[in-house]
Amino acid sequence: MAGDNQFDLVILGGGSGGYACAFRAADLGMSVALIEKAEVGGTCLHRGCIPTKALLHAGEVADNTREAAQFGVAATFNGIDMAAVNSYKDGVVGQLYKGLQGIVKARKIEFIAGEGRLVSANTVAVNGQNVTGKNVVLATGSVPKSLPGLEIDGNRVISSDHALKLDYVPASAIILGGGVIGCEFASVWKSFGTDVTIIEGLPHLVPLEDENSSKLLERAFRRRGIKYELGNFFSGVEYTENGVRASIANGKTVEADLMLVAVGRGPVSAGLGYEEAGVAMDRGYVKVDQYCRTSVPGVYAVGDLIPTLQLAHVGFAEGILVAEHIAGLNPAPIDYDGVPRVTYSHPEVASMGLTEAQAKTKYGDTAVKTFNYDLAGNGKSKILKTSGQVKVVQQVDGPVLGIHMVGDRMGELVGEAQLIFNWEALPQEVAQLVHAHPTQTEAMGEAMMALAGKPLHVHD
Ligand SMILES: Cc1cc2nc3c(=O)[nH]c(=O)nc-3n(C[C@H](O)[C@H](O)[C@H](O)COP(=O)(O)OP(=O)(O)OC[C@H]3O[C@@H](n4cnc5c(N)ncnc54)[C@H](O)[C@@H]3O)c2cc1C
Repeated sequence: MAGDNQFDLVILGGGSGGYACAFRAADLGMSVALIEKAEVGGTCLHRGCIPTKALLHAGEVADNTREAAQFGVAATFNGIDMAAVNSYKDGVVGQLYKGLQGIVKARKIEFIAGEGRLVSANTVAVNGQNVTGKNVVLATGSVPKSLPGLEIDGNRVISSDHALKLDYVPASAIILGGGVIGCEFASVWKSFGTDVTIIEGLPHLVPLEDENSSKLLERAFRRRGIKYELGNFFSGVEYTENGVRASIANGKTVEADLMLVAVGRGPVSAGLGYEEAGVAMDRGYVKVDQYCRTSVPGVYAVGDLIPTLQLAHVGFAEGILVAEHIAGLNPAPIDYDGVPRVTYSHPEVASMGLTEAQAKTKYGDTAVKTFNYDLAGNGKSKILKTSGQVKVVQQVDGPVLGIHMVGDRMGELVGEAQLIFNWEALPQEVAQLVHAHPTQTEAMGEAMMALAGKPLHVHD
């Protein structure tokens, strides 16, 4: 720790938001203290994005092995060795963790291991000492939520944290919540051989997505044998001899070895001194303005702790924004509508911008037009044996307002989708750009060509 415990910037929490802020601030010449009670990298690296995607990839390999004969390849699927899967997953996390620790050192950031608490507007107490900053960033993130009266015991009723550490493949699982995390685990477990049932109170899986994407995912999951109960709320769970029995408001019950609670994540702010220091809060979230400034001058907050999209790349962007704002670089506020969203299930769901329903609410029914390009017409998708659609929402005679994609590897197309959306491109402009053949990006090009009035591989 620096001799007098004084820094330009003190950051509480070393997850995506906190460390991104630390890296940018150090590059901009600030002295930075990064206080972290567990491991730098936070949820994303240790309990979120990276380990789930490693499991999903192992699931993809399992599916490919089972289906190898369809491609003329002789292979036998002999099951999942969960110890080996975990060692692969942990290896990926471990290497990235080492890399991050190296960057912390290389940028000369003072890493302080310990649980911190805000004791005044510019001071965090940690390990019995006070660390003071000209500015302070709160970045303590989030943890899995449960429902009132629903106890997560870590054994039969588990959260995503426990699910990532399972050393066996459950024979059957109930997943409470059909959002991103619920659908990703449903996908992994089904690939591993689990009998999966999702319970979702809203009428659709991934209910925040365009309804067309939800329906395509539901169809794909049904074909994969993933069961779901939609539009009826969960009403309780009880232990059975070897597992659990969940009840649904429509009177149905579902039994399984375990139940994963995936009903969202709540901010980590209780008992950390935020309110006492005068920081305005709303249901546990820290309230911020467009530059992530809290109600207390000199105190900022980023990531899952504030009520913006709970995504690692949003945390990165907010961390960078804060560092640049403090450095006086006058950065532009984040356009949250322009943030890409991906559910990495098999098939993937990826989207940008407004859904058709949101666009119609905003611009009026007649001012919005859509086109759905079916991946059945896309050569590369046929080769991969994936199906789905690229749906484009356009303002009539205007720019693209939203892009909604379902299909394996569609997450990789979201890069182009975000350029189209954020540059407010017109379909006829994108239609002029030549897409490589045979790639799945052609599906994007084809959708734009159709909207521009010159469809190529499109059936009526
Ligand atoms: C299963 C799962 C899958 C996900 N997949 C994706 C994905 O594919 N893509 C994506 O973009 N996002 C994904 N997310 C979301 C993503 O992980 C979060 O949005 C991101 O990690 C938030 O970053 P953060 O810095 O705000 O918080 P966190 O990453 O939660 O970091 C907060 C840090 O603060 C530390 N901390 C808390 N209190 C204190 C204290 N008092 N003193 C010191 N340290 C403290 C914690 O130990 C933690 O390291 C996923 C999340 C989950 C759970």
